[in-house]
Amino acid sequence: MIDSYRHKGLRKKLADTITNKGIKDQKVIDAIGKVTRHHFMDSGFVEFAYRDQAFPIGAGQTISQPYTVAFQTELLQVEKHHKILEVGTGSGYQCAILLELGAKVHTIERQRELFLKSRALLTEMGYKPYFYYGDGYKGLPKNAPFDKILITAGAPEIPVELLKQLKIGGRMVVPVGGSSGQVMMAIDRIAENEYNESEHGHFSFVPMLKGKQ
Ligand code: SAH
Repeated sequence: MIDSYRHKGLRKKLADTITNKGIKDQKVIDAIGKVTRHHFMDSGFVEFAYRDQAFPIGAGQTISQPYTVAFQTELLQVEKHHKILEVGTGSGYQCAILLELGAKVHTIERQRELFLKSRALLTEMGYKPYFYYGDGYKGLPKNAPFDKILITAGAPEIPVELLKQLKIGGRMVVPVGGSSGQVMMAIDRIAENEYNESEHGHFSFVPMLKGKQ
């Protein structure tokens, strides 16, 4: 897998771009500067890999915009050794960013094609998350509770089933809304039956869908 000086240079620029757009957490910026995004995209698109844009990855899905990945990651307040559930493995890029921060990641994808592709790619790159092919709406009750839950697809409403899989003191980051756009929400579980919600701006994700495909 090639990572040339040119790739490195473009990546440094991308890290500067997201910093200029308001990302403050240096660990997140460093992770964006480190993960070789061009490996997560088809080979013809290296130029595009380091633009701050979403991009098609097959199966009608997209690799999220780097700024959005950085924003969600910053909002998640990741600490080393946190156990994180990621819903929507997609290309695997966001997963790699979480792993670079030292987290243990359990990642679910409902599209079989993408599950297989990203599992092969991340493994080849030396990343070791736990991979699951399934419906993220159900979460992973057997592996719960999680310190953090990150949803990388637009959820029509807050996925209640997943809230129960958060540790007390844990946080879920989820874009909530329909096809015209979502509001980024952070939901903190502050007690057994008590949650705090906060809103963090508008974004546009592919939809979170039910069932496997
Ligand atoms: N984190 C990804 C973003 C991919 S886009 C990345 O960095 O590339 C969102 C992904 O969520 C898509 O791959 C889509 O298939 C997946 N998805 C949508 N609904 C889902 C569900 N209910 N369970 C698991 N994955 C889901």
